[in-house]
Amino acid sequence: MDCTHCTPKTCKNLDSCGAERYDEAAVEEAYRDPSAQAIVQAAAALVDGGKAGTVSRLREIIEFAQSMKYKKIGLAYCYGMERDAESVGAIFREHGMRLMGVACTVGGVAQDDVNQSSSTHTVSCNPIGQAEQFNAEGADLVILMGICMGHDILLQRKLQCDVTTFVVKDRVFANDPLRILRGYPEADPLCVKDV
Ligand code: SF4
Repeated sequence: MDCTHCTPKTCKNLDSCGAERYDEAAVEEAYRDPSAQAIVQAAAALVDGGKAGTVSRLREIIEFAQSMKYKKIGLAYCYGMERDAESVGAIFREHGMRLMGVACTVGGVAQDDVNQSSSTHTVSCNPIGQAEQFNAEGADLVILMGICMGHDILLQRKLQCDVTTFVVKDRVFANDPLRILRGYPEADPLCVKDV
């Protein structure tokens, strides 16, 4: 399946195109699960009734968390964004919610302890430790903020709760990855700087 090169777009008219390879009955059944319904309905409340396009992502996360009645919410942040992470925590407090903020450097482990091919003995990101800290504290939701590419995969692999992303890291484009597509294809699509 390659939806990006599909012209008929029959799915938009509620028709299957026949390219699906999953068990449709199992998918329908999965949506009937109460925990899936809670998420679907909380997500719909953010956009239904003309609300779509009027609410920022941060506001959406707050309203979603309130709808879901999450008790323990974690903020997994890059230490380079600590000032912004503090601001996120303050905004949540204004809305009556407390965040557990855990930096990517939690535990103070060295790069050569984490990466078997490294001989650098300076502090490393520790996404597995970050995840296990949230697991140990019983987080219901973890919000990702600027976690490095790859570390975000390990973190999400290990977390035992719901996860959403507030900020994705893009070191070239001020954490706005879509900016690489402005001017594509004339511009260098990968924008690799000479070093
Ligand atoms: S009709 Fe099928 S291939 Fe086309 S966009 Fe929809 S799902 Fe994708």
